[in-house]
Amino acid sequence: MKVYNSLTRKKEEFIPLTPGEVKMYSCGPTVYNYFHMGNARPFIIFDVLRRYLEYCGLKVTFVQNFTDIDDKVIKRANEEGTTYDKISERYIEEYFTDAKGLGIKPATVHPRATENIEEIIKTVKTLEDKGYAYAADGDVYFRTRKFEGYGKLSHQPIEDLESGARIDVNEKKEDPLDFALWKAAKPGEPFWESPWGNGRPGWHIECSAMANRYLGETIDIHSGGIDLCFPHHENEIAQSEACSGKPFARYWMHNAFLTIDNQKMSKSLGNFFMVRDAAKQYGYQPLRLFMLSAHYRSPLNFSAESLEQAKAALLRLHTAFSNLEFLLESEESENPEGADKLIASFPAYRERFCEAMEDDLNTADAVSVIFELVRELNTVFVGKGAQKASVRASLDFLTELCDVLGLSPQKEGKTLDAEIEALIEDRARARKEKNFKEADRIRDELKARGVILEDTPQGVRWHLQESK
Ligand code: AMP
Ligand code: ZN
Repeated sequence: MKVYNSLTRKKEEFIPLTPGEVKMYSCGPTVYNYFHMGNARPFIIFDVLRRYLEYCGLKVTFVQNFTDIDDKVIKRANEEGTTYDKISERYIEEYFTDAKGLGIKPATVHPRATENIEEIIKTVKTLEDKGYAYAADGDVYFRTRKFEGYGKLSHQPIEDLESGARIDVNEKKEDPLDFALWKAAKPGEPFWESPWGNGRPGWHIECSAMANRYLGETIDIHSGGIDLCFPHHENEIAQSEACSGKPFARYWMHNAFLTIDNQKMSKSLGNFFMVRDAAKQYGYQPLRLFMLSAHYRSPLNFSAESLEQAKAALLRLHTAFSNLEFLLESEESENPEGADKLIASFPAYRERFCEAMEDDLNTADAVSVIFELVRELNTVFVGKGAQKASVRASLDFLTELCDVLGLSPQKEGKTLDAEIEALIEDRARARKEKNFKEADRIRDELKARGVILEDTPQGVRWHLQESK
């Protein structure tokens, strides 16, 4: 498989350090709120990467942290008159609710900063002993200039960084380029005891300490959104490599932004949509499909139109599944025309699907392969009888490819069925009560969702609109 490595700025063949095993670390959310669609992009993309590597037979150890202590968590706790851990507990739970809905598998380990304080202190101490860190009035800073490779990930020479506007001036620092590893506690803030006094860890150090604890000194893949490349990931490299003297991550993967009106979706700009709210409107699975419809290194624009399209596409996928499931329960008959040929072409479909995934995780092309297959399955099987073995093979193959992308329309399909049945019942009741206006409104609503109603002598039947 080829992946684009931000470190070398090239597409490279991915070869894990230990054959057959992959060690992956992805920066997780700061848990002071629900996560938004922009945050969901790396969570979904790197979940797909992990799923694909597992599909290829590799054993993946995937670590994604929770930043459960920082200024934002503390601020939120103060606003609500509660403690930081109540806030982080709540939003970790909410993370798992949305992640589950989006089909994001739990990581192998979800370490939290506050559960790794000992490890963090040990790392800071090593850096201090090696002369890479210094204490200043209860804080501890990293001596950036001492680390020779600084800037290698974001491809910035140190001189450019010196004149950079982002560097904050702080008189405790020896050099404006230095960054905090440990922060002295301010009055009223939560703190942990340390050799430098009471305080809490800086953000960058938690990832270095936790990657080392759960994956070791050198890991295969480190990932996150492109905004993390500098300074967060640059600082992680400096800390980890200064500490161990070994390369930290071998492949660095960064996703492009999810935008809205061509601006980065972010909490600070206020132009964000929470996954929770978007899911209420469109359903979780369409959000996932939307995210996979573009290559992860291309910006992706969030719009109602694209989400409606994803929803409609998912309905086509659902039709293919429910029709095959229906055939499996129906009486067996001869295969319809084209079925044998279609089944014989599954290996070629698989090859094209994998080719797309092997090309730097081109999920957009992989999704197209699935929808080509769906179109053929619907053409060959909808409204016909078939041999059970052929139907089974088709269902298994469609499931195999969908699983790699974490698409499970069957599961949402079941709830969809229940929802539609309920609406049909409401409509029947309205008609009985001679409330035709309401009955028509329900029919229109169903129609907008691609559900066609047929009034038959046996009662109302429904089917999904044929795909175009
Ligand atoms: P945060 O909780 O802000 O640290 O972000 C968690 C993850 O979301 C990081 O990997 C960020 O790079 C990523 N992220 C934040 N906003 C966006 C966005 N608009 N598009 C893509 N990724 C984003
Ligand atoms: Zn990180």
